Amino acid sequence: MAQTAEKIHEEFPLDGNALRFAADGTPTLIGMACDDCGAKTFPPAPVCPECMSENVSDIDLSQTGSLYTWSVVHVAPKGWNVPYIVGYVDLPEGVRVFAHIVDAEAGALEMDMTVGLTTATLGENENGPVESYAFTPVKV
Ligand SMILES: [Zn+2]
Repeated sequence: MAQTAEKIHEEFPLDGNALRFAADGTPTLIGMACDDCGAKTFPPAPVCPECMSENVSDIDLSQTGSLYTWSVVHVAPKGWNVPYIVGYVDLPEGVRVFAHIVDAEAGALEMDMTVGLTTATLGENENGPVESYAFTPVKV
């Protein structure tokens, strides 16, 4: 099912239940682990999508992952800072996260490169800047 970037960021704002900040400002994505079948997802959900169990727990997801794929968006709804890069990041927990890839040149990205969690201003809407989680290439 298609989901627009705008919809994603309405659902996952910086003050939402899918992201938490340490005292030093370090962001952490919050996922869900099923205590019955072991499935893990992002964002957290009250019911396991694999076995429908409600016996689930929030888990902290890793700070870095592997870039699975990406694309450059040149045309976007009003308010988005184009062009921008979106991609899928595979985290060690087995969770694939859709996110903006920031502070990067599309031509310098490589499949399976290490990317780290950050936050970024992605555009603006009637309420002001739209900020959310994103990933950025990290040196390893
Ligand atoms: Zn389950």
